[in-house]
Amino acid sequence: MIKADIHTHTTYSTDCESPMETMILEAISRGLDTLCFTEHMDKDYPIDPKRDPSLPTEFLLDTDAYRKGFLEMKEKYGDKIRLLWGVELGLQPWLADWQQNYVKSHPFDLVIGSMHNPKNVDPYYPTFFEGRSEQEAYTEYFTETIECLKSFSDFDVIGHMDYVVRYGPNKNKEYTYEKYSEYIDQILNMIIEKNIALEVNSGGYKNGLGEPNPCVDIIKKYKSLGGELVTIGSDAHTPQFMCFEFERIEKILLECGFKYHAIFIDRKPVLYPLG
Ligand SMILES: [Zn+2]
Ligand SMILES: [Zn+2]
Repeated sequence: MIKADIHTHTTYSTDCESPMETMILEAISRGLDTLCFTEHMDKDYPIDPKRDPSLPTEFLLDTDAYRKGFLEMKEKYGDKIRLLWGVELGLQPWLADWQQNYVKSHPFDLVIGSMHNPKNVDPYYPTFFEGRSEQEAYTEYFTETIECLKSFSDFDVIGHMDYVVRYGPNKNKEYTYEKYSEYIDQILNMIIEKNIALEVNSGGYKNGLGEPNPCVDIIKKYKSLGGELVTIGSDAHTPQFMCFEFERIEKILLECGFKYHAIFIDRKPVLYPLG
């Protein structure tokens, strides 16, 4: 059984209403030994003109308040569960210097780098897909990820690497690794070279893809290229999705030939056996 969830959100993230304490109590009741918070820091989050006005417009993290709240919770629950302090950075090519400085200025256990807004548009909104084919839109998502990796790579894990397919008009019905292998292989080779772990994010199941993000063929390809470092995260924004489908993910990883999954403490990987 996987006893760590290292991609979770709480009220410190703009799009989350679950208090940190609620998430901690859930993790304890599930018998986890490790819970890592990875709150959103999406500097320059784009404002879509057609956005639902009830949705948030800013994804900036109040890092000092987050640190303070975390330390209070650690004081209260630190003897019952290992709590880790992470962040999920929304990558944008022009933010490299800012992000470099940001990660160096705070004592994070884990930094996840995620492509949320290719060319500064959120694929969550249909605008991203308007006036072009799905293939063009997905290709742009991957090429923007490559651009970001060229300028900034001081993060530990690449989050939900094919996240864009959650929101495509046909989701993953016509999506295959092969169709985008030219770009995906570049990303995988870059993260292997830079010692960045591949995250297996169970949000794909929550979004009805029937697969994690990235899809199984990408996980297999990563392994065949020499990738060994994988992390498992639910991306839970509510307690009920904590550890969502982790048994399925563990099975996939074992079938792909992985023996360990990693958590990060003080930005260093610590390996736990699978199976
Ligand atoms: Zn994300
Ligand atoms: Zn997330």
